[in-house]
Amino acid sequence: MKNSSKKLLSIALALAIVLSCLACAAYAIVIPQDVKNVILMIGDGMGENSLEWTKAQTGEPLFLDTMPYQGYSKTDSLSGTTDSAAGGTALSCGYHCFNSNLCTLSINIKGNGATVCDFFNLTQAAQAIGKKTGIVTSDDNSGATPASFSAHTYKRELAAEITEQQINSGVDLLWAHDNGIIDSAKVEKAGFVFATTMSEIDAVPEGSRSFAAIKGNIFADTGSEADAPLSILTEKAIARLDNDKGFFLMVEGAHIDKFSHANNEKNMAMALTEFDKAVETAVEFAKDDGNTIVIVTADHETGGITLNPETKEYEYTTDGHTGTDVPLRLFGSDELVKDGAAVENIQVARFAAKKLGYTGRFPSFSYKLCSRQLRLKDISKTQACIG
Ligand SMILES: [Zn+2]
Repeated sequence: MKNSSKKLLSIALALAIVLSCLACAAYAIVIPQDVKNVILMIGDGMGENSLEWTKAQTGEPLFLDTMPYQGYSKTDSLSGTTDSAAGGTALSCGYHCFNSNLCTLSINIKGNGATVCDFFNLTQAAQAIGKKTGIVTSDDNSGATPASFSAHTYKRELAAEITEQQINSGVDLLWAHDNGIIDSAKVEKAGFVFATTMSEIDAVPEGSRSFAAIKGNIFADTGSEADAPLSILTEKAIARLDNDKGFFLMVEGAHIDKFSHANNEKNMAMALTEFDKAVETAVEFAKDDGNTIVIVTADHETGGITLNPETKEYEYTTDGHTGTDVPLRLFGSDELVKDGAAVENIQVARFAAKKLGYTGRFPSFSYKLCSRQLRLKDISKTQACIG
């Protein structure tokens, strides 16, 4: 494509995004009441049959099945079947983009260079209206899902840049598995108390911001003393974030995806059971609080889990992601999805922003956020996003 054509395309894309934002202003009208707190819980790779196979293995019911409003979320990105970066971008920034991209749009493309613009994410929207914000995940801190809520990069693999941005993101707490490249001095200089274990998290003074890089397992209690199970971290994070002005918290169970990539149904069920406990913890808080919405969904399904009609048993049919609709379950509002219906994943981010009481434009793209000139190798694949 000629440079002039590229320029035209980038202008058209920017215009399309602005127009879609006008449409989202109308969306605010159908959501009359905001709430104090929103907790968004993402079971990475969690399809409907991940739940069914977990129950078949454990013989136990799941709390998720008791949530009052149950529908589905569509997951495709502009690449087709999504990855966790484009999935996270949809759930946090409200845009459909290409895989690997984390909440950015590339414009003014010249040669193999471009200006990279940031989309506003849910964490930023909550911060803009004075709410506390938190991210808790069983993944490394720079994993694609937590990164979608705390960083902007055109490529998910840029772990050092993502970590740097997270440290400067203004988030009140970010508790994750250690990605091995965190400079604790930098973290502390940015105003966080740095923690590497559950007991160090417990020792964080009241009112202090905290950044935890856990070396043990978060996906479940595996019996090691170093473990910091997701449900316990979720409970502690909510207690830290709860305040008069409210909070936004994203909790991710990343290992439903990771173990399904490995076709390990036993560990997948263990990770999903822990995620389910984390959901129960959040809903118990919401019930007591009376002013909190809990949204549970997934970025995509992993493993193509299918009930074999002959053996009557579940089985994996792939070690990758699939495009099947994923569960979308809510406590505290029936406005996002009707029972059994499916909505686009980008509506989750838009709904969360409105319910938090954010009255600015969301989803949002602004030239003020186009600050970084970058050389891009995969520019043709990273430039477009659709609202
Ligand atoms: Zn995956």
